[in-house]
Amino acid sequence: MRERPPGGTQKTPRRKRRTGGVCAITVYVTSFQYVVSAAAIALMCYSVSRWRQTRMMYFAFLTLAVAVNAVGYMYEVNSANLEAAIIACKVTYLGSPFVGPLYLMFALDYINKPFKKRWLKALIFVPAAAFSLAVFTYPDARLYYSDLVYSTAGWQPHLVVTPGPLYYPCFIYEFTLAIAGAVILIRGFMRAGTRRHALIFPATVVLPIGAQIINFAKILPGQLDIVPTALTVTVAILSWHLARYRRDEWQSLGREHVVQNMNVAFILIDTERRILDSNNKAKQYFPELADARPGARLGSLPGFPADAFTGPGDLDFELKLNGERLFLHMSSTELKFSGSTIGSCLLMYDDTKNHMVLAELNHLARHDELTGLNNRSAFFRDATRLYDLCRRQRGYPGSALMMDIDHFKSVNDTYGHAAGDDVLREIGGMLGRRVRRTDICGRYGGEELCVWLPSTNTEGAIKVAEDVRVAVKNMEFTASKGNFKVTISIGIASADSADAISFDDVVKRADEALYRSKRAGRDRVSVYGAPPETGAEAVRCE
Ligand code: GH3
Ligand code: MG
Ligand code: MG
Repeated sequence: MRERPPGGTQKTPRRKRRTGGVCAITVYVTSFQYVVSAAAIALMCYSVSRWRQTRMMYFAFLTLAVAVNAVGYMYEVNSANLEAAIIACKVTYLGSPFVGPLYLMFALDYINKPFKKRWLKALIFVPAAAFSLAVFTYPDARLYYSDLVYSTAGWQPHLVVTPGPLYYPCFIYEFTLAIAGAVILIRGFMRAGTRRHALIFPATVVLPIGAQIINFAKILPGQLDIVPTALTVTVAILSWHLARYRRDEWQSLGREHVVQNMNVAFILIDTERRILDSNNKAKQYFPELADARPGARLGSLPGFPADAFTGPGDLDFELKLNGERLFLHMSSTELKFSGSTIGSCLLMYDDTKNHMVLAELNHLARHDELTGLNNRSAFFRDATRLYDLCRRQRGYPGSALMMDIDHFKSVNDTYGHAAGDDVLREIGGMLGRRVRRTDICGRYGGEELCVWLPSTNTEGAIKVAEDVRVAVKNMEFTASKGNFKVTISIGIASADSADAISFDDVVKRADEALYRSKRAGRDRVSVYGAPPETGAEAVRCE
């Protein structure tokens, strides 16, 4: 704020004869502006050197605006004539109108709530640019100053100002944005529970606004403008706070600590899949990472599923580590910089427990607990899929066996239910061991078991059925009431490629054949639609 002539009228300044005391003060005051400028430049260098750190960019610009303001004012108080003072004043206004909006931007950025929309950011700076331009166009356009007069009256040379129409709106704009910025910072820090830091921010607006009010009120003799000093002190306080709080350093240190010690493996690769970085957990899973040479490829890591890994997304894989089987879940996300992909972040965690539980649940959902064979729905699902596939490929679909333990009710009644369970368990186990791995065995229900023999014709099925029947007949079971034996009846139905029937119908036919075995005296094998061939007395089903 420069001196205004009383009543806004222009006064031709009169060079006063300076007394020795005033001269000494002038030297002191003008020299002091050098100190302020030097301090402002030093603070600017400090913040500009850190401008790439998180949330430091606007602070760097803020210190730049304050430094320009201080240097401009330094030149103004050292100017020898009106022209020089006007040029210095214009330099000052390259910085000062931007202080308010930059402080607001810094505040929003600092509490991590920056404006998302670029046009909104730009809009905030438009008035600042307009005020700066209004000063620059003086004296052609007298929008900011109506008149400027050079004066050496008082402690220092200075400009005597007659305000133009934009003069006071500029201060209103500056004050409003600065107060808004301070309120945002105070609220942000109060909410974060760091009240001690919140106390700093009122000072950062009270100082410059107070200095401006002192200027307006002309309290200080000698037309001394203390705003550049107040602004320099303000950014010094903010720099001290930033250096002390060291939020950015803490953040990156904290992140580094978390990434290194988290229970999730982290590997960073470039677009050529060269390994750039990894954490402790990743080195535990892939010990070769510890001494991988720079530029080593991901595919060279033993155990890494390089073939299955196709890019961003999720992947489950098995890893053998120190003789132990681990099931890892990996998520890969692309890392972008300036809009282009520069690599990928791979995160892997141990999913073995979940994998085991899921495998167990899957097993329970598919299998019959007593016999260990497929349950009825799993049997039908798997066998139907095989049957349909075989028919589509015009191959020989196969044969179904239906089995039922004879007089099983009397086993339960005579030897007890537990003994009946043992019989089912042992026959189920024997069946599972006797058939091929590609055959599908199931517990159809109660004491009825079923087998689907893919690509097996009736002759082959009879051999299997006979084998099972004889094996059951030869088994001896132990119960508290003594040892006992059981027999089993079996029905066979085969489907060849010409049969246009469903798998359910094949099973129904096998069931019919089984029914005929029962009716013919049990402990035998019957084939649907074939003459009696086997067992104690085979039957032919119509
Ligand atoms: P058939 O020769 O005509 O097949 O006579 P069966 O006695 O075997 O036939 P029925 O259908 O009359 O009896 C089947 C019995 O199987 C009745 C039931 O208690 C018994 N059962 C079914 N499931 C189980 C099981 O899980 N455990 C035991 N112990 N018994 C079972
Ligand atoms: Mg039965
Ligand atoms: Mg039975």
